[in-house]
Amino acid sequence: MVSKYIFITGGVASSLGKGIISASLGKLLQARGYNITIQKFDPYINIDPGTLNPYEHGECYVTVDGMETDLDLGHYERFTGIETTRDNSVTTGRIYLSVIERERRGDYLGKTIQVVPHITDEIKRRILLNATKQPLDFVITEIGGTIGDIESQPFLEAIRQLRWELGPQRAINVHLTYVPYLAAAGELKTKPTQTSVKQLQGLGIQPEVLVLRTEHNLSDNIREKVAHFCNVDVTAVIQSQDLPSIYEVPVNMLRQGLDSVILEKLGVKPAKLPALGPWQDFLERRKKATKEIKIALVGKYDLQDAYKSIIESLTHAGTYNDRKVKAIFVNSEGITNENVSEQLQSMAGVVICPGFGSRGIEGKIIAAEYTRTHDIPTFGICLGMQMMVIEFARNVLGYQDANSSEMDVYTPHNVIDMMEEQKSITQMGGTMRLGAYECELVKGSKAAQAYNGQCMIKERHRHRFEFNNRYQEEYESNGMQCVGINPTTNLVEIVEIPTLKWYIGTQFHPEYSSTVLHPHPLFMSFIKACSNGTTEA
Ligand code: GLN
Repeated sequence: MVSKYIFITGGVASSLGKGIISASLGKLLQARGYNITIQKFDPYINIDPGTLNPYEHGECYVTVDGMETDLDLGHYERFTGIETTRDNSVTTGRIYLSVIERERRGDYLGKTIQVVPHITDEIKRRILLNATKQPLDFVITEIGGTIGDIESQPFLEAIRQLRWELGPQRAINVHLTYVPYLAAAGELKTKPTQTSVKQLQGLGIQPEVLVLRTEHNLSDNIREKVAHFCNVDVTAVIQSQDLPSIYEVPVNMLRQGLDSVILEKLGVKPAKLPALGPWQDFLERRKKATKEIKIALVGKYDLQDAYKSIIESLTHAGTYNDRKVKAIFVNSEGITNENVSEQLQSMAGVVICPGFGSRGIEGKIIAAEYTRTHDIPTFGICLGMQMMVIEFARNVLGYQDANSSEMDVYTPHNVIDMMEEQKSITQMGGTMRLGAYECELVKGSKAAQAYNGQCMIKERHRHRFEFNNRYQEEYESNGMQCVGINPTTNLVEIVEIPTLKWYIGTQFHPEYSSTVLHPHPLFMSFIKACSNGTTEA
């Protein structure tokens, strides 16, 4: 089948869940047997979100091929299980960079470079790029931001042109809006949706499908009204009400025919119904898993989105262990020797979170000491693993001044040190050790058991510092083992204390690759350890 393009835009407000709708639509089309990809085009000027504070856009997600991307790519992968690449995440910055590089090379000699056509042409080229590299039936393109933003304009112009060039059988616009409920009037209001669609129409884009985000059920009347005012079929007005879990959204979309209406408009005869069996099983199991376990997330960002993939990975593993994970954020900046037990003693397990810089690290070290000495299952991820290593050096090996050279360049005991390859790097953007690398597991280790006896794994990274191998022997003879090693560079990827219930730190980020249908083995084994003793009879 020739590739077809689905453009998803959003209006009225941000945070309506465009990413979840895109991921759900991708899931449904995939479950019907189509080859799909989902890509995100973000209107900001950074080349990638790698240098952004999580307070700006939440977690920075990392693809297997080492692109730092928007967290929506995490949703795409968790829903579909299809790995994304650097071609699935594009920003205004990347678009301009390639146009300007071409201009400097002389590719446009004699011409004035303009937003239209040069920037819009580059956007169009990128939208079409994925389908030139692999056979794809559907390419779903989510446009970041909200209609009306100045910086979104070139993207909207590009999708307007593409729709015209490809024709109505190959391209379709889906617009997501918000229907607020005015409590004082006791009414749901469709005016913002009408205005948003008018704004799109003013740009030459007629959405064929509307997805209305709402906290209350929309009556047929309201849907008819929206259809009537917006030139959209009433069957193409879909509601996206709040649900207990984002993973219920695909089922809700299926029930209302989001995928079938799109297929119909694109002239595709839906061959089969989506096979959502395992997905439904997951939802069922999730509903039944009512026994709660509390897992502390020790980190410095008091913001859910900063640890999105970790929270999702914990809930995937929770479901498959028949537990409801309650993730409790514990701000590491507030942890002291005096209050650590009060903060962590009731936790079934503790995750020491990734991060950069020294803010909050002493609290992470105190947490690592507390859980190690009280044998509470603990999972250190990236910076979290590094803090476990530092804590062990200070309190077991006796090096009071042990540190990471990220925090103290002059520490005499740099048990965490900058990677050799990083020492000559001066630019900050996109220069960390990024993406998937191999790791060989030590047979018989807890980590190897978690991976079901596999000896070679591949996991994604995002860091500049590493375990200092000069200390390996000392660590091992004192009880902390290096049980995952990169086979080419010898870099220590996993440490564990085998005498404890579950005390494992990984230099890589397992949270990027946990999906609904394939929970990550380390999270599975961690939650299992956290659940022990809480098993129902
Ligand atoms: N700041 C640490 C490093 O660069 C850890 C990074 C992280 O947690 N992603 O090595």
